[in-house]
Amino acid sequence: MTSNQKNILAKLKLSGRLPTPKGVALEVINLTQRENASNQDIVRLISADPALSMRVIKAANVLLSSSSRPIVTISDAVTVLGVRALRQLVLGIALIVDYQHGPCKQFNYLHFWAHSLLTGIYVRHLAALSRLAAAEEVFVIGLLGGIGQLAMATVYPAEFGNMLSDSELQPLDELYRKEREQFGFEQAELSAAILADMNFPTIFQTLIHDYPQPEVSRVVEGSREWKLMNMLHLASLMAEVSLGTPAVRNKLARKLRSDAALAALEEETLVKVADECAREWMEWSTLLNMGARHLHSFAELFDYVDNEPEEIVMPQGDYSSHDYKMRVLVVEDDRAMRTLMEKMLLAAGHQVVIASNGVEALRLIEKERPQLIVTDWIMPQMDGLSLCRELRSKPENRSIYVIIVTSEESADKLVEAFEVGADDYLHKPLTPKIFFARLRAAQRVVELQEEIAFDREQLLRFSSELSAANERLQAQALSDALTGLPNRRFAMERLEQEWALTKRGDRTLSCLMVDVDHFKSINDQYGHQVGDEALKLVADTLRRAARTQDVVCRYGGEEFLVICPDTDAQAAVQCAERLRTHVAAQGLRLQNGGEHKMTVSVGVAEKSQSSDTLEALLIRADNNLYAAKDAGRNRTVVTS
Ligand code: GH3
Ligand code: MG
Ligand code: MG
Ligand code: MG
Repeated sequence: MTSNQKNILAKLKLSGRLPTPKGVALEVINLTQRENASNQDIVRLISADPALSMRVIKAANVLLSSSSRPIVTISDAVTVLGVRALRQLVLGIALIVDYQHGPCKQFNYLHFWAHSLLTGIYVRHLAALSRLAAAEEVFVIGLLGGIGQLAMATVYPAEFGNMLSDSELQPLDELYRKEREQFGFEQAELSAAILADMNFPTIFQTLIHDYPQPEVSRVVEGSREWKLMNMLHLASLMAEVSLGTPAVRNKLARKLRSDAALAALEEETLVKVADECAREWMEWSTLLNMGARHLHSFAELFDYVDNEPEEIVMPQGDYSSHDYKMRVLVVEDDRAMRTLMEKMLLAAGHQVVIASNGVEALRLIEKERPQLIVTDWIMPQMDGLSLCRELRSKPENRSIYVIIVTSEESADKLVEAFEVGADDYLHKPLTPKIFFARLRAAQRVVELQEEIAFDREQLLRFSSELSAANERLQAQALSDALTGLPNRRFAMERLEQEWALTKRGDRTLSCLMVDVDHFKSINDQYGHQVGDEALKLVADTLRRAARTQDVVCRYGGEEFLVICPDTDAQAAVQCAERLRTHVAAQGLRLQNGGEHKMTVSVGVAEKSQSSDTLEALLIRADNNLYAAKDAGRNRTVVTS
């Protein structure tokens, strides 16, 4: 207990009006605090008060409804519950029974106890579900969590009464502020102080102090204490919703839904738990003469909210420190959980796509190409594990970062997740702090991967540019710039290839040496430029007139070599004649509108069967060309 709490308490005790158990209950509390007290002493004491005994036995049966053997004596109750839980139970019951009425007119004592009791019931069931703490102990924390409020109403009926506003939903901050102003402390502090005075464990005191406003608590996020605090907060909210007017219920339903999601409680489970609690609530109410009414089901409430536009309350946290934005796919079957994650991611500036199971996710992955997938483990149709396995089977999905969200703590399960290709895991309940820490880790990997992909792409582009340049260079090296025909180097390479081919099969080869007649006179008459045009014209004409398999090359200045694969001398002559007549038919258009007729002479040679060589073949073609020139030009000469 802090010194401030001690002072508060001392002052209140002096007033003599602090809510305390009386009579037998008080003696039980005192007795159980003594170390030498035996169970028999306690049994005897409680049994001395038949009304209290009856209530304790019934309460024990309600609390232990799942155990097989009914409790029929106080002695059974001590054995089954243990001294500590029994003591707390006696205390709670005694307080409820003794403080159903009081001096503060504005304070609704019955409503207060109904809320406290219901919080206790809810938190007990939630604790049983999560196995975070012994359910019976948690029940009492829920039950006594608001005791400071009762104390204020009891000790300062007029002052506290004035603080209670007419509106049903006075913000807690507002009430706390008024309390501090008036009394120097707030009800949460008082609750903790009273529990400390009754020797409740320290952890109970912290929880009771912090749970009304978990967002300002300094309890370590994600710790067991933190989870308990949120559970208590959720139970109290559930109680508020259950007991509120329709307007309050509808107003708080959304907060309930998002708080439940934060506590990793699926809506279906929440509804089921609440229905069980509603039954138990009626039993307690009878037991303690509270005249309670039946509670509405949460299913009804959520149905109502579903028809209203969604508004999820986001947990507090730092959403701003993300400068690199990711495309994130959230896969989660629980609607509230899904929306919560979506909201948190959107608040951090990421792009978010949503799927409610694995099958849907696989479809979206192809279309949306997410960089990060945050997937729930247990989902209908296809769970997170199968999704991950399926996803990793495709090479294009290997670089997607996958985080599996699970409520499983077992190492084996986690190993299973990593084995199917998950990169990381997150435990439910999700806390914003841890969620974003993991997200930052994912982000680093995604960024790195993007960088590598970018580098690779650059490299690929560079190398394809390089090979294109190479091709261009090579083409340039092998072709003639003026006419675009293959050049002499190419011609020689090609001739050698064709020559080699003739050696393999029963194939022959001919070549034509073509030279423009009196070309010099064109240059002389019209200038070099017109000479170039004339050369281009001859080149085009030869190319067009040649057969497909023939290769026309520019061999020298105004000299062309035509390679005719698989062609004997006779066919080569026909080919040569075709080329010659085409050139002769084609006149060079002059700028003055006139035309300059051109002709070519052709020397033909065919590979001879014997020990012929390529050089010899070319020389024969050349000789025949000269023979054609000598014979008067514009003709073809062949020697066999
Ligand atoms: P012949 O009928 O005996 O072959 O007479 P010719 O004038 O065609 O023969 P010659 O070998 O004396 O002249 C060839 C000329 O072709 C000389 C050269 O200036 C010219 N020539 C060679 N290459 C080019 C070129 O690329 N462009 C131009 N405009 N002229 C060229
Ligand atoms: Mg699920
Ligand atoms: Mg010539
Ligand atoms: Mg010449």
